[in-house]
Amino acid sequence: MHGDAADLVVVGGGAAGLAAAIFAAETAPAGFRIVVLDGAKTLGAKILVAGGGRCNVTHHEVRPGDFNGSQHVVRNVFSAFDVAATVRWFASLGVELKREPTGKLFPASNSARTVLRALLDRCDALGVTLLTSSRVTRIVPPLDADRSFQILYAGGVLHCGRVIVATGGRSLPRSGSDGSGWEILRELGHTVTPTHAALVPLVLPPQMFHAALAGVSQEVELSVFAGGKRIDQRTGSLLWTHFGISGPVVMDASRHWTVAFDTGVVPTLRCNLLPGQSFQQVEQWLIQSMTNRPKASMLTHLSQRFTERMAAVLLRHAGIDPATVASQLTREARRTLVHALTALVLPVERHRGWNYAEVTAGGVPLSEIDFRTMQSRKVPGLYLAGEVLDCDGRIGGFNFQWAWATGYLAGRAAAGGNAPR
Ligand SMILES: Cc1cc2nc3c(=O)[nH]c(=O)nc-3n(C[C@H](O)[C@H](O)[C@H](O)COP(=O)(O)OP(=O)(O)OC[C@H]3O[C@@H](n4cnc5c(N)ncnc54)[C@H](O)[C@@H]3O)c2cc1C
Repeated sequence: MHGDAADLVVVGGGAAGLAAAIFAAETAPAGFRIVVLDGAKTLGAKILVAGGGRCNVTHHEVRPGDFNGSQHVVRNVFSAFDVAATVRWFASLGVELKREPTGKLFPASNSARTVLRALLDRCDALGVTLLTSSRVTRIVPPLDADRSFQILYAGGVLHCGRVIVATGGRSLPRSGSDGSGWEILRELGHTVTPTHAALVPLVLPPQMFHAALAGVSQEVELSVFAGGKRIDQRTGSLLWTHFGISGPVVMDASRHWTVAFDTGVVPTLRCNLLPGQSFQQVEQWLIQSMTNRPKASMLTHLSQRFTERMAAVLLRHAGIDPATVASQLTREARRTLVHALTALVLPVERHRGWNYAEVTAGGVPLSEIDFRTMQSRKVPGLYLAGEVLDCDGRIGGFNFQWAWATGYLAGRAAAGGNAPR
């Protein structure tokens, strides 16, 4: 440890903090002391669990529309550090990335440990001091231009010329990201927009049929309605689980559900199990099929479009015995069934909780930082990076891309210019 002073302190040693420390160390003049303080006992918990333990580092194509947040700022951040820069950077750290058919990029080793090891080794090689079990409780800004920041943390007080706050959001609190960074930033004059769980599975009432289909994935079109308006619509893979629904399309839609729900509106989630097909098209198909084979059971008819297991569950959900022969089905029952196939209401009770959320929607508004440098517009010498900012991406490596890119900008800027004390 370097006594009680450093040139730059990075608060939070997650993806954004480690990237910021590395880029700062690579930019800084010789002798520039960088200390990373993290409250967790070990670093990189989220990197290790990400992507099912394989760490989906980025996505082959990243566009501003993949993020919820100021499109202008997001565009500028990624024009400074794009996917190609991420790939080059990881190659320079000895981590080769491979692209999967979904467009996601993973380490060729298929192990998140490769990613974390490379980041920690690089910090080590650059002389960055990493202090764990060092939770920061307060940052006192310089009182005048000649004084330094005071960082109050579990180990005492650290004085420094510049600070990068990369404390993440509230998702997976046991990883050390519990939202405490926002309290620190509020005290420094920043605002924090309301925060909501995002990329989170959704829980259905136990009487719904999901448990009978646990483990089954299917392509669906999912729409979220709130206050009489459709606020989100997307197509993708839904996974039925023992508690409700998950899978990429649900995770992406979830932030729209949680934001509406948390603001007091009761959102409705509607699912088209035959994406791209309207009620009329599906009804026409069903009438045709039933007319052609009036003696066949409804299970037989529906099994042309769904697995038999799924068909049986859907028929029962629509109040129809799967053994019912087509000629006996009433018009009303047929229309109820078509409605269940094309506009199935999923009566979500709640999201699955912060322990299952991959990211946080909300945070420090992007308008409160200079997107060229990530420097705070409230406190000179203070920089912000990663999920602590009000920007969240869809599933697929976008959130790490945000962490690397903002870490790059903050790190270089915080180490550049006139060398701080
Ligand atoms: C289960 C899961 C899977 C995910 N999978 C992917 C994926 O495959 N691809 C993808 O792009 N994204 C994924 N994400 C999202 C991604 O992990 C985050 O967006 C990203 O880690 C954010 O980086 P960050 O550095 O801003 O914050 P974090 O990674 O949360 O790091 C913040 C750090 O700050 C520390 N800290 C917090 N408060 C304090 C304090 N007061 N004092 C000191 N230290 C503090 C924490 O201990 C933590 O180490 C996943 C998230 C989860 C939970």
